[in-house]
Amino acid sequence: MPVGGLVPRTENVTEHAADVVVRNARIHTGDARRPQAGALAIRNGLITAVGDDADIAPVVGPSTVVVDALGRRVVPGLNDAHLHVIRGGLNYVLELRWDGVRSLRQGLAMLREQAARTPRGQWVRVVGGWSAEQFAERRLPTPAELNEAAPDTPVFVLHLYQSAVLNRAALRAVGYTRDTPDPKGGQIVRGRGGEPNGMLLAAPSALVLYSTLAKAPTLEGEERRTSTRHFLRELNRFGLTSAIDAAGGFQSFPENYATVTELARDGLLSLRIAYHLFPQTPGQELDDLTRWVETVRPGDGDEWLRLNGAGENLTWAAADFENFAEPRPELNAYEGEFAKAVRLLTEHGWGFRLHATYDETIRRDLAVFEGLAAEGLFPAGNRWLFDHAETVSPDSLDRIAALGGSLSVQNRLSFQGEVFTRRYGAAAAAEAPPVRAMLARGLTVAAGTDATRVSSYNPWVALHWLVSGRTVGGLAIRPPENRVDRATALAMYTTAGAALTGEQDVKGVLRPGSYGDLAVLSEDYFTVPEPEIPSIESVLTVVGGRIVHAAAEYEGMDEELPPVSPGWSPVAHFGGYQAARPAHGAGARQAELLGEAVAESGLHHRWRVARGLAAEQGTPFDPCFLL
Ligand SMILES: [Zn+2]
Repeated sequence: MPVGGLVPRTENVTEHAADVVVRNARIHTGDARRPQAGALAIRNGLITAVGDDADIAPVVGPSTVVVDALGRRVVPGLNDAHLHVIRGGLNYVLELRWDGVRSLRQGLAMLREQAARTPRGQWVRVVGGWSAEQFAERRLPTPAELNEAAPDTPVFVLHLYQSAVLNRAALRAVGYTRDTPDPKGGQIVRGRGGEPNGMLLAAPSALVLYSTLAKAPTLEGEERRTSTRHFLRELNRFGLTSAIDAAGGFQSFPENYATVTELARDGLLSLRIAYHLFPQTPGQELDDLTRWVETVRPGDGDEWLRLNGAGENLTWAAADFENFAEPRPELNAYEGEFAKAVRLLTEHGWGFRLHATYDETIRRDLAVFEGLAAEGLFPAGNRWLFDHAETVSPDSLDRIAALGGSLSVQNRLSFQGEVFTRRYGAAAAAEAPPVRAMLARGLTVAAGTDATRVSSYNPWVALHWLVSGRTVGGLAIRPPENRVDRATALAMYTTAGAALTGEQDVKGVLRPGSYGDLAVLSEDYFTVPEPEIPSIESVLTVVGGRIVHAAAEYEGMDEELPPVSPGWSPVAHFGGYQAARPAHGAGARQAELLGEAVAESGLHHRWRVARGLAAEQGTPFDPCFLL
């Protein structure tokens, strides 16, 4: 890197020389005492100095890596407060990601290409991170399109927690026939004669979707490690340096935590993970929780991997599914077991997080907490929070504040805003969730995505949603009164997440003593036009003083990573998030994409043949437009 003006010193500097210096930068520190800076230094994983280039020059030694930010914006490393990062990592290289793909046509072309290279016995799976609304065509693929793209390879396409589309080969692989009963809360859609037609619907339980996915082959051993490392690097690509894992179905403790634990032991995590524990079996939740409070403790681990409490489910019966395409589920009485679980946790000094989508659920949960508060168990200093809270009421927010709780919100409505608005109306969507009302009460409100099976993991899509109130389809659902400014949104993605793990003194802010976690951004988040926020990436990500992602001028400066394995992995060929050019007006971009698609369609081909502009032969490759 050009050192421009900084002459490395050789005498008296070696013993306090920085490992990494970032200079010539526009640093947003997040520190009220010094909000802006031009340079900073990192030594032994911690920030040692923040100032301007002249302040930092004395700590540049012969072995200091000096990064010239070339005037770029630098921000504290991002922290996704609700990410299914452990499960995502175990599956990442097996998944074809439609995150960021702008047309179904492109998605199907990727699928067709991937099916051709996928070996027998393996599947092609698209598991969330996208919405039909992001496509120019604004629709799902049909089973017939999947059959056409992949006649023999099982294909499973998950659309949010609403539905899944399977091709014929996948139906064969999972063994669904006319005799298969619908699982509880789910529907296997049937065609004539009762045969499954390839559609699965959450009605409203998503169990039918993820229990079907669980029949697909999984990775073993070394490939799990490699997959996780590539997923963490993909997150680093967007400037993420921390995440709070929300656990989840089919994520058992300790088995499914083994890979991240090994990577942490070997110093190979490139993202800091605070994790939660989630009872897996309905009816046995108290057994699991009792075993855990007796064998492990929140705070166990280190700055890279640590236990942060229980949740996001404590008992299955208390979970409300967020399928906004279906009516709100009416939960049966769950308070008895739920109260026992919460009592057990609080009496053992455990914090927890709790999945709750609707105010109806939150009010019932709060009534349980208030009962325990009468015995002095709330607020008792244990960190606890509600996740999601799309329809939480002002009254419930007051009660959460009184009980010492926090909130964690995700941009699930980036992907489901249209369907939410259709069901509940624009006024309800405008407040889903009521971010400003939460902040006005002084509550800690951390931001995140809920990736990977519903939302995309791209934090800039989530930041754009907080700032603009728009879905990935371009629909404005939240008015200015319920949006936040860019600095507030960033604080929700940095300092608030740190507060939820008790790391607010060392994480989320760039000041001496904090972790050396930062991102050098491709575009200036604070000045780039609003529609371009989702296109921001990091060009250099530093975690604990290690360069874990480097692109553009910095290419090659990051730590080496083993190649993606297996070689046929969609990630080896397509990568993860599919970056598109910034959309200068969603409507214009949509028209452009439709134009491209139509130009290649069969109908257009026939029109050209009829006018002598094209040969009769030729493959109209796009089944969407074959009429
Ligand atoms: Zn949840």
